[in-house]
Formats: sequence, C-alpha cells, structure tokens
Amino acid sequence: MALARCDEHKPDNSGDDYHTYALPVGYPQTAVTCDVADCHNPARLWLTKDERQRFLAGERVFSVAGGTRLRVADDLFPN
Ligand SMILES: [Zn+2]
Repeated sequence: MALARCDEHKPDNSGDDYHTYALPVGYPQTAVTCDVADCHNPARLWLTKDERQRFLAGERVFSVAGGTRLRVADDLFPN
C-alpha cells in the first residue's frame, strides 16, 4: 500500500518498496498531507514495488491506509 509522506518523513526504503514516488495531482497545492502524526506538510505518494509496476503500466490511482484512493500525475521520481 502506498505511503503519503512529506520530504521530512521519507519512508524507510531498505526493502523492495518505497524507492519511488509519484505526486498527487496538484502537488504541492494538494489536499494530501503526510501521514506522520501532527505533520501537516503536503505529501508525495511513495509506491511499493508492485505499485511502481502498475504505475509504469498506466495506473494512476493508488490506495493509502484507511482505504482512501489518490490520483497521481504522470511523472515518476527516484528516491
Ligand atoms: Zn511529514
């Protein structure tokens, strides 16, 4: 499941996941905020290995904790 995290709270990417991120539509003027408690910064959407493959296949809507789904823009960025 994708993680919504700001620049100050990048996820641990020591495993296969969260090596790349996409930007929520409108970033940084986005309604999506970092999922760290008390952090209100705009979030990037960090993708799992599987989600990265789905992104490359054209998917742009991904789930985050709680079941909310986010739409991302067309660029993919390395960590
Ligand atoms: Zn944060």
